[in-house]
Amino acid sequence: MKTDILIIGAGIAGITLAERFASEGKKVLIVEKRNHIGGNCYDYYNEHGILVHKYGPHIFHTNYKEVWDYLSKFTDWIYYQHKVLGNIDGELVPIPFNLNTVYKLFPKKYAEKLEEKLITHFGYGKRIPILDLKNIDDNDLKYLAEFVYEKVFLKYTMKQWGLKPEAIDKSVTARVPVVISRDDRYFNDKYQGMPKNGYIKMFERMLDNKNIKILLNTDYKEIIDYISYDIMIYTGEIDYFFDYKYGKLPYRCLNFEFKTFNDDFQPVAVVNYNNNYDFTRITEFKKMTIQKHEKTTICIEYPSDVGVVAYPILNEGNKRILEKYLEEVKKLENKNIYFIGRLAEYKYYNMDEAVKRALELYDGLKG
Ligand SMILES: Cc1cc2nc3c(=O)[nH]c(=O)nc-3n(C[C@H](O)[C@H](O)[C@H](O)COP(=O)(O)OP(=O)(O)OC[C@H]3O[C@@H](n4cnc5c(N)ncnc54)[C@H](O)[C@@H]3O)c2cc1C
Repeated sequence: MKTDILIIGAGIAGITLAERFASEGKKVLIVEKRNHIGGNCYDYYNEHGILVHKYGPHIFHTNYKEVWDYLSKFTDWIYYQHKVLGNIDGELVPIPFNLNTVYKLFPKKYAEKLEEKLITHFGYGKRIPILDLKNIDDNDLKYLAEFVYEKVFLKYTMKQWGLKPEAIDKSVTARVPVVISRDDRYFNDKYQGMPKNGYIKMFERMLDNKNIKILLNTDYKEIIDYISYDIMIYTGEIDYFFDYKYGKLPYRCLNFEFKTFNDDFQPVAVVNYNNNYDFTRITEFKKMTIQKHEKTTICIEYPSDVGVVAYPILNEGNKRILEKYLEEVKKLENKNIYFIGRLAEYKYYNMDEAVKRALELYDGLKG
């Protein structure tokens, strides 16, 4: 079989490239090993008619206007500003840890003192990575840093990664900020929302082109010998492509438990369990999709070494292995084979970054 563009993987990166190439008349074949499109952004209506995210909650947020404008061609958006509460010592408090959290957890006089010191030291509106706060030479701020570290970060991170936080790459640690403001929103990106009819409806619109064919339930290695193509785009796992010749690149994985109740479950869409229990967070979907329904479905998230591959483990050893694979990837560009997306680059990408990478690759290749 002959196709112009062969795309391995029907996640948001693969779908974006399929849409772009098909729109200029190229014949596109997508090969996907799962039984559905959408990759980890996959959503569906469960047996109760509630829209749920199979691989954990996905909230769209971006500062890239071009990405927002591009996706907005295929969906309207529900106005949704994501807010997370953390269960700290049985109290539900705003996360990321911010000035409102300080006032919820400490006596008013002490909270005022901490607020003043935080603002004087860092400035209002700053997001300070938690490990930086820990190094400050001020007894009150040191105490606050220890408190946040112990109660918010340490056990959560150990659960999340199965590791001590010091052993984790700084770029990952920096994702957990202390916010010196009263803004309770989890993201402060310019554009935020949920696709009005869900991610899959948005993807179906992107793929609604006679030039696109999709083969589900198929690992690309089963068919690659029977297909010729001008360009191949690979969004699967980078080490798998090379038959693990430099070793396996591990992921922190997740397992999801879904439950449905007759009554609302929690005050916001996501509650983190920072200290207790084996799970890290519970999502109540209709609080983020703004679906009206008499019942509610929640998803409990358990980090593990096995399950759905979620987060690359970016330690020094794995980075060295990755570099070797990336060297091989560069050579393949001569054969018109390109690697893109969270699995193919072994990199945590938010959805907007995956789309941005896909749009940039397309711009580089088109014509
Ligand atoms: C728990 C969790 C929550 C997240 N929440 C958010 C969020 O709130 N907001 C946000 O912006 N981002 C979020 N993300 C990140 C988001 O999931 C990614 O940005 C996005 O999935 C990346 O898309 P992708 O196309 O690169 O990869 P994927 O979605 O993984 O797609 C790759 C596809 O390739 C297929 N494939 C792999 N190997 C093969 C093969 N050998 N043959 C055929 N097909 C193959 C896979 O089955 C998959 O469908 C979250 C991620 C996780 C893990």
